[in-house]
Amino acid sequence: MDAISGQPMRIITIANQKGGVGKTTTAINLATALAAVGKRTLLIDLDPQGNASTGLGIEKDDRDVSSYDVLMEAASISEAATATAVPSLSIIPSTLDLLGLEMEISGAPGRAYRLRDALHFHQVDTPLFDFVLIDCPPSLNLLTINAMAAADSILVPLQCEFFALEGLSQLLQTVEQVRDTLNPALALHGIVLTMYDGRNNLAAQVVRDVRSYMGEHVYDTIIPRNVRVSEAPSFGKPVVLYDMKCPGSQAYIRLASEIIQRERRLVAA
Ligand code: ADP
Ligand code: MG
Repeated sequence: MDAISGQPMRIITIANQKGGVGKTTTAINLATALAAVGKRTLLIDLDPQGNASTGLGIEKDDRDVSSYDVLMEAASISEAATATAVPSLSIIPSTLDLLGLEMEISGAPGRAYRLRDALHFHQVDTPLFDFVLIDCPPSLNLLTINAMAAADSILVPLQCEFFALEGLSQLLQTVEQVRDTLNPALALHGIVLTMYDGRNNLAAQVVRDVRSYMGEHVYDTIIPRNVRVSEAPSFGKPVVLYDMKCPGSQAYIRLASEIIQRERRLVAA
């Protein structure tokens, strides 16, 4: 239990095996928007590319303790969590070391539970966070499996494009496998449609298809394609801080409040 609010720490994994669908952008901006309304938030960067770390202004030289160290059982969550420029938001940065992790722990028993165990220990010890968001690499490898095994729920960014649903069914199969083997409690938190372009008829059709196929799992909020969103990372800032008024920022702020509402319903149920 969370020491201050009495609510349990919520762990949400942001995953999709496709690259470029908005996982990292969603992780950074959702984390920032949650922190902005006072939720103590931790973002764990599990992608060796480290885009979430860069996007939050953590320079390569400042990644002394990383998610690799946590997965190697060389550092605790508290030791690895680094403050960001956003109040109430910490990050566990990633480094390229993560590329070798799968080989290094391939024979180790419990290798899929490294992150779960670290977070569990943290929760029992001194929970400092209301929300933990995990940014996954674009594949269904051991890193993503660790993130799914550790999470209460999974959040799937889906780009409004033709093959969106095809990739989704493969991902949902993996979620089902993780439920059967590693984490029976893993829930689908929701699907967020990203990079929506209202001038494109196909995008509108994809929205209708995804909503009719996945129903209530799809968040009401749709993230529009917005150039300010793509500019922000080069300034090491979430777009929510870089330009709070732009449509992309406003959408991520709405998504954060939708997520808080869903969490309230889950806790009350
Ligand atoms: P992933 O983590 O799934 O690979 P990213 O979040 O890195 O995807 O997004 C891929 C690219 O698309 C990045 O260059 C990012 O800046 C850009 N992007 C993401 N969301 C938007 C958006 N809503 N509008 C415009 N560009 C976006
Ligand atoms: Mg990414």
